[in-house]
Amino acid sequence: MSQWISSNLGYPRIGANREWKKALESFWAGKVSESDFLAELKGIRLGHLRLQQEKGINLIPVGDFSLYDHVLDTSTMFGIVPKRYGYEGGEVSLDTYYAMARGNDQAAASEMTKWFNTNYHYIVPELADANPSLTVNRPLHAYLEAKQELGIEGKPVLLGLYTFLKLSKGYANAELPSLVERFLPLYCEVLSELQQAGVQWVQIDEPSLVTDIPAEDWKQIERIYEELNKVAPELKIILQTYFEAVGDYEKVVSLPVQGIGLDLVHGGEANLEHLREYGFPEDKVLAAGLIDGRNIWRSDLTEHTQVIKELGKFVSPDRLIIQPSSSLLHTPVSLAKEDALLPVLRNSLAFAEEKLDEIQLLVNIAAEDENVIQEALAENRKALSELKTSVFRSNGTVREAVNNLDESSFVRKSDFSTRHAAQQKRFHLPILPTTTIGSFPQTAEVRKARRQWRNGQLDNQQYEAFVDEQTKEWIDIQEELGLDVLVHGEFERTDMVEFFGEKLGGFAFTAGGWVQSYGSRCVKPPIIFGDVVYQEPMTLRETVYAQSLTKKPVKGMLTGPVTILNWSFVRTDIPRSEVAYQIGLALREEVEALESAGIEMIQVDEPALREGLPLKKADHESYLTDSVKAFKLSTSSVNDTTQIHTHMCYCEFHDVIDSIEAMDADVISLETSRSHGELIENFKTQTYDKGIGLGVYDIHSPRVPSVEEMKEVVVSALDVLDPELFWINPDCGLKTRGKEETVAALRNMVAAAGEARNEI
Ligand code: GLN
Ligand code: ZN
Repeated sequence: MSQWISSNLGYPRIGANREWKKALESFWAGKVSESDFLAELKGIRLGHLRLQQEKGINLIPVGDFSLYDHVLDTSTMFGIVPKRYGYEGGEVSLDTYYAMARGNDQAAASEMTKWFNTNYHYIVPELADANPSLTVNRPLHAYLEAKQELGIEGKPVLLGLYTFLKLSKGYANAELPSLVERFLPLYCEVLSELQQAGVQWVQIDEPSLVTDIPAEDWKQIERIYEELNKVAPELKIILQTYFEAVGDYEKVVSLPVQGIGLDLVHGGEANLEHLREYGFPEDKVLAAGLIDGRNIWRSDLTEHTQVIKELGKFVSPDRLIIQPSSSLLHTPVSLAKEDALLPVLRNSLAFAEEKLDEIQLLVNIAAEDENVIQEALAENRKALSELKTSVFRSNGTVREAVNNLDESSFVRKSDFSTRHAAQQKRFHLPILPTTTIGSFPQTAEVRKARRQWRNGQLDNQQYEAFVDEQTKEWIDIQEELGLDVLVHGEFERTDMVEFFGEKLGGFAFTAGGWVQSYGSRCVKPPIIFGDVVYQEPMTLRETVYAQSLTKKPVKGMLTGPVTILNWSFVRTDIPRSEVAYQIGLALREEVEALESAGIEMIQVDEPALREGLPLKKADHESYLTDSVKAFKLSTSSVNDTTQIHTHMCYCEFHDVIDSIEAMDADVISLETSRSHGELIENFKTQTYDKGIGLGVYDIHSPRVPSVEEMKEVVVSALDVLDPELFWINPDCGLKTRGKEETVAALRNMVAAAGEARNEI
């Protein structure tokens, strides 16, 4: 027996073949009955538990599995169901559960937002008029099921009350104490039932403890854990934090719980510093998150054994748990399908399944035969050093180019007003020019042609001819509609990151590296494993072709460096900012290629800029500085007459407005409709004096907005923004829309622009 305990915090739900996704979608489509669906999901759930059991994990999480989202599970467990779903108390039905997640004919879906700084999205609990009650003890059911079916002594996982309230909406922070008052008895009930059932360990997730905690909240946090400890003194509660270092270390480790889980990867240095400075309480267990739960790289086990040795200074071996840094929900499931990857890369990867092996290996160091461990460590070292020394990892030209960057690499030749004048002269655009964000409908026909090309039924020439046909059709449509600045339509792209990654050196694509993004929706992020190298023009052919069809300007369309970075799995051997610069340099070459070919408006999209914001305010500035620089690196080498656009799909921008300005784009387009006028309101107090387009209609719905409606948005925007600088465009790209509704909506948009011009 080893002396340390191995543990896991959560396992991906989706299954190695995305069977979970498929099951949900066929249930929603009415293809399987509720009981068959639930039976299938039970099979998937038990399969994941069995796997962890076979791997030898001591503390297997139960209750982390979900039918959609774990925050929604927590809401429904406490009967937090907004009135519009017609809920009348008691256990929440599957229909109501999915209505909250996805909406139905009677009621809109609940809001969905990002889970901390990950790409997972949760359903936001709505606490206005909440009447909480315990409808079902989910963790208890999960515990009993694992015990009865598999003989597993599981560790129930539950979302902590503080984090649950912090993630909810519909109340002011002053009401926090009264909400704690109402929910705490329910949490007590859950825990005392777990204790009665003989549960030993419980994992209470409180990732909000790594954010900036308002001082007045501490009283509530202390109260919650004092109460829980009182009602279930025999339970070993692990208070689990992740995604960053805890800010108030001394307070967190003083809470009356039996174990503290710290992330030793993300914010790892800061957490280790805390341990060195303040030590660790003698009466607690340290759950050490050593294996990266959010990335896909094999761990450096030799380094980890050193860290474990150091941890030995703070806790005795029987009080040390070895575990991932967070739930493995954020990693792909298994490497089994990845034989097509370069061997040197494949050997350096660990997905969820392989991470369980790493945990076991670390735990075994104490007990196993020296030789076995030495062999495994040597193999681990060899694989990592092969990647480190591989030709992909370091490209001399790229390294030199990054090293040679200086202040001048990040600034345009002239200031905005000079450029603006030069561009006005060059383009002769009318006031309130109209444009779109880039993509046009990706119809079944477009998707089919791409599929046929991918599996060889269409050769390159045939596929390009097809893309050109679509482009021509839409250039004609845009001309006929009377738009002022046209786009080629992005028919050659599925995904705005994958498209560029496939054409740049340093990227790899997995066969099955899916992770859950929201509900049944999964994404397959590219892997940036080597230096990013520009190989050949990526967008030139399609853009130049589109421009050849019209006298109006066609905007070139690129995905920005920060977005490419934030939507990929990124190497960790060099700073992220350096990877961002490498991408920035590659895009700069593309921008220059477009400009030389006569494309004089170029849009560089950064929809993911804001979502990369670190969890602690203190870290915002350096992230934003690096991001702005990467963007400017890609866009600043052009002539004054070349107009740089950017686009961001969000309306909450007030906290990043300075950075958005600093990007120095000539024109920016922002999403507006989901802010319900708030964005426009913001400009009363915040000035923005470069070109700006606020989306005049919501592209998330097939509804065709009227001329009046859109004109109203324009008129109210012109109350606060300079008409000389204002652009008219939809909220975002139109690829998910149908053709007819798109043409109708754009026709109304152009008419609205015309009317607004007449009134100025
Ligand atoms: N140019 C992209 C498009 O139109 C922008 C997408 C985005 O903002 N997410 O589809
Ligand atoms: Zn967008």
